[in-house]
Amino acid sequence: MTVLTVDVRKKVYANDCCAIENLAFAVQPGEFVAIVGPSGAGKTTLLNLIAGLDREMQGSISFHSGQERRTTPRTSFMFQEPRLIPWLSVQQNLELVLTAQLRAHPVIAMPDLLALVGLAGCAAMFPGQLSGGMQRRVALLRAFIIEPSLLLMDEPFQSLDAPTANQLRILLQELWQRTRPTVLFVTHSLREAISLADRILFLSGQPSRIILDLPIDLAHPRAIEDASVQNLHESILNRYPLLLTGQSTPA
Ligand code: ADP
Repeated sequence: MTVLTVDVRKKVYANDCCAIENLAFAVQPGEFVAIVGPSGAGKTTLLNLIAGLDREMQGSISFHSGQERRTTPRTSFMFQEPRLIPWLSVQQNLELVLTAQLRAHPVIAMPDLLALVGLAGCAAMFPGQLSGGMQRRVALLRAFIIEPSLLLMDEPFQSLDAPTANQLRILLQELWQRTRPTVLFVTHSLREAISLADRILFLSGQPSRIILDLPIDLAHPRAIEDASVQNLHESILNRYPLLLTGQSTPA
């Protein structure tokens, strides 16, 4: 099991834009953490640093398994767009991320995997034949199929209609509860964060740092319209009215 430790002292882009300064936190194995902050706060920058897609920064990001041993986690990244390969079928898109061993001897057969995410019978279809919601289901399955220890998600349900996004949030919680990767989920929606996460890290405006680290103690699975989610949303904003603009000044 891997603990993720993030300590970004400074992230400055080539144009002198300082996106992050003194942002530090640790995440326990299997924790579901949402990262909430205003637009331009540095959320995508932070995920890219953690994924290793960008290594230009001052500070450190490390993963430790038991006995303080540093490791490289098996990581999945789910972006705002599903990013399926258009000329490959659903099955081929999924097989692409599997090792040759797993492709030849799957632990769960492809039809069963697809049924798990409500896509029974869609193996031979191409992304262009699927709705936006179905494409996200494939992308979600592709993220989980490698059994990641770390799952990074950058507003993956942002451009979907509300009912479709709600179904996908429930599906995400089901898949997460089965395999328990550590999840970092970026969103600017406090309701979405409350409906998914064990803990929310709130970021300031640029340069971003953590202004509040809030545990969310509600049972899973949750739906965004649950009264418990709505009530918590209201009470957090009553307590910290400027939180979503990047300020944690109490009322
Ligand atoms: P968020 O995901 O919270 O909306 P970003 O991480 O995308 O924020 O951006 C944080 C800040 O860094 C913004 O001011 C943005 O303009 C700047 N930024 C992001 N990417 C680059 C880049 N490649 N070059 C220069 N500045 C960038």
